[in-house]
Order: sequence, then structure tokens, then C-alpha cells
Amino acid sequence: MPDRSFLAWPFFEDRHRDLAERLETWCAKNLPVAHDDIDAACRELVTMLGRDGWLKPTAVDPANPQPLDVRTLCITRETLARHDGLADFAFAMQGLGTGAISLFGDAAQKKWLEKTRAGKAISAFALSEPRSGSDVANMDMEARRIGDNYVLAGEKTWISNGGIADFYVVFARTGEAPGAKGLSAFLVPADTPGLTVAERLEVIAPHPLARLKFDHVEVPAAALIGKAGDGFRIAMSVLDVFRSTVGAAALGFARRALDESIKRASGRELFGAPMADLQMVQGHIADMALDVDAAALLIYRAAWTKDMGAARVTREAAMAKLYATDRAQAVIDRAVQLHGGDGVRRGHIVESLYREIRALRIYEGASDVQKVVIARQVLSEFKQS
Ligand SMILES: Cc1cc2nc3c(=O)[nH]c(=O)nc-3n(C[C@H](O)[C@H](O)[C@H](O)COP(=O)(O)OP(=O)(O)OC[C@H]3O[C@@H](n4cnc5c(N)ncnc54)[C@H](O)[C@@H]3O)c2cc1C
Repeated sequence: MPDRSFLAWPFFEDRHRDLAERLETWCAKNLPVAHDDIDAACRELVTMLGRDGWLKPTAVDPANPQPLDVRTLCITRETLARHDGLADFAFAMQGLGTGAISLFGDAAQKKWLEKTRAGKAISAFALSEPRSGSDVANMDMEARRIGDNYVLAGEKTWISNGGIADFYVVFARTGEAPGAKGLSAFLVPADTPGLTVAERLEVIAPHPLARLKFDHVEVPAAALIGKAGDGFRIAMSVLDVFRSTVGAAALGFARRALDESIKRASGRELFGAPMADLQMVQGHIADMALDVDAAALLIYRAAWTKDMGAARVTREAAMAKLYATDRAQAVIDRAVQLHGGDGVRRGHIVESLYREIRALRIYEGASDVQKVVIARQVLSEFKQS
């Protein structure tokens, strides 16, 4: 049983502790699912999670709009990731893909949320392009206003759920101003003529991922989310909510690696004594436990700060994501070491964690970019003081 002591921390309310217990029981019964067919597995996970009510926190309830609860998102991601990385992915994308609609959508657009929260529609967030990943403002994709419509032309790449999504939230250049101030967000159903999957992308921890082509894709002006020219602000507001949850997923992977290592060190004999009696093994375990707890503190600090009504948690979320993902990589690497040959055997849990963790240090703001963000915040706070 993983360490549960963090649930007593003052960041949480009893409803979070209750959620953690109920979800743990659900995961033990339902996860992992078979991953042989990744698209089918993701669809099945979205259906299961929606059927049993776990997707409700991913988006606002159109009938009773309340702010998204970041602590709930983080506890859910942490728990799902500890049991099955693909389950975490399926949950996370329902949130990231609908975040712009939850925060800025109108009543008609929010109709989609009834479906995504019930696991009856799959969403995706389409920001990155071949020439603009970290450099979002360098986006090439255009959306030209023609009469009552917008016409989208260009490419998006690295789009999670690409190929299985029912709709995409797409960011494109509408040109109100140069750079970041000339972008807008659109809700584009996957069956809109001209929108095609140009390429499916394979990565070391498989999940549905695609490059999308937009060839004269016409959407009504009502597809615009928020105001024209607000796309960059919308994307950053969505990431402000979901960035700490990436840290929470990394924390789930790290906790699993620590648990597996404790089991291994306690159950295996080396040189006539339990492996856990070797002081260097204890050193690894201590470093792993320290990294896990420090990451959890940063993540739940960021989540709590947002839930308490902070307009932005740029610094807290950047610290949480940077630290939790980087340290999870180190924790998992130690787990591989402690497992010896088994650690690199295809199909072993620590081998899959080793592959799962890597992309989290790249997407939703690479680690280097998080450092830039933290430094900018800290330096500007000093200037203002
Ligand atoms: C598995 C996976 C899933 C993804 N899912 C989605 C998705 O659903 N939707 C979506 O829109 N995108 C998604 N992405 C794209 C992801 O957000 C980008 O890959 C990421 O923003 C980095 O962009 P890039 O790949 O173009 O790398 P680049 O922008 O070329 O950056 C490469 C490297 O340069 C360094 N770097 C970049 N900027 C700076 C800086 N300012 N200072 C110092 N160093 C810097 C970093 O080390 C960075 O990793 C996904 C990516 C992956 C790998």
C-alpha cells in the first residue's frame, strides 16, 4: 500500500480524502486495462471513467458552473497514474481538451461538456505546430474571417487524442496584432470537412497522437471561443489550471516506482541478508522518498493556491511541474537500478514507468521553459518590491 500520510496535510478537505479512498478502490478493481490496441484502450478508459463519474471534475458542469477544483484533478491524476499511465492520459485529456470551453466557452459550446464529463465524447487540445512548440507565438496556422465563417488552414502536430477525438480546441492566427496578441481559439468538430489526420505519431510510451491537416476548414463564427485575439491568454489560462496536474501524474509514477522498489528491497536477499539492509540501497530509498514528498508539497501547494482563488499560479504551477517531473525521472531511474536486470525487461512495471515519465518533461512547457518562467516571476517580484 502506498504512503497515504500526505492526505492528512492541511491542503485537503475531507471530500478530497474521500475521493482518494474511493478512487483507489476503483483503480484496484478496474486497472490496468489491456494496452494492445491503444485507440481502443483509450476509448474504453474514457467510457469507464465517464460511466463511473470520475470525469466530472475535468470540466465545469453547464447546469451548475463551479470553478475547476485543481486538488481533485491532481489527486485523481496521481492515483490513476500510479495504477495505469493510459488511464491518467484518458482522464487528463478530457480536462486539457475542454479547458478553454470550461473557462471561456458560451452556453452552446458548453453543451459538449455534458458529453465529455460523461465519457460520451473525447476532446483534444491543438496548440503545437511543426514550427511552434515552445514558441507558441510563432504559430503559422491561419483562421481568416470570411462573412459569417472562419476558414482555418495549416497544420497541428503532437496532438494527443488526434485520430480518436470527437472535437478539437484549435488555436490559430486571426491577426488582430502581431505575435501572441493575434491568436484565437476555435471549437472544431472532428468530422468538419477538410480536417484530416495527416500522420499518426509513435512515441516511447504509446498513446493516440497525431499530426492534423486543416485544408480550408470552414467553421461558423460561433465556433470562436472567447474573443478574437484572446487565444494566447486562453491557452495560458488553461495551462495555468492543468500544468500542476502534469506534476501530479509524474508524482503518481514516482510513487509507484518507490513502492515497487520497497517491495523489491524487502523481498530479495543479497549476500545473505535482505537487500533493504544494504546501506546504499537505503540511500536510494531515502532519496526517492524525499523527492516524492517534496514534489507532493509543491504540487498540492500550487493546487491549493489556485483553489483558494488566486487569479494566476504561474510560479507555483511552474515549480510544481518542473520539480515533480524532473525528480520523478530520477526516482524511476533509481527504481530501475534497484531492480537489476528486471528493471530493463520489456513489460516490467519500472521499465514502462521509465518510458512513461520522459515526455512529461517536454509537453505543456518543457523543463527549461519552466525555469525561464520561474526566473521571470522571481525577478519581477524583486523589481516590484
Ligand atoms: C507525448 C506528447 C504529447 C503532446 N501532446 C500535445 C497536445 O495534446 N497538444 C499540443 O498542442 N501539443 C502537444 N505536445 C507538444 C508539446 O507541447 C511540444 O512538444 C512542446 O511544447 C515542445 O515543443 P517542440 O517539440 O516544438 O520543441 P521545441 O520548442 O523545439 O523545444 C525543444 C527544446 O528546446 C528547449 N527550449 C525551448 N524553449 C526554450 C527556452 N525558452 N529556453 C531554454 N530552452 C528552451 C527545451 O529543452 C525544449 O525541450 C505533445 C508532445 C509530446 C511529446
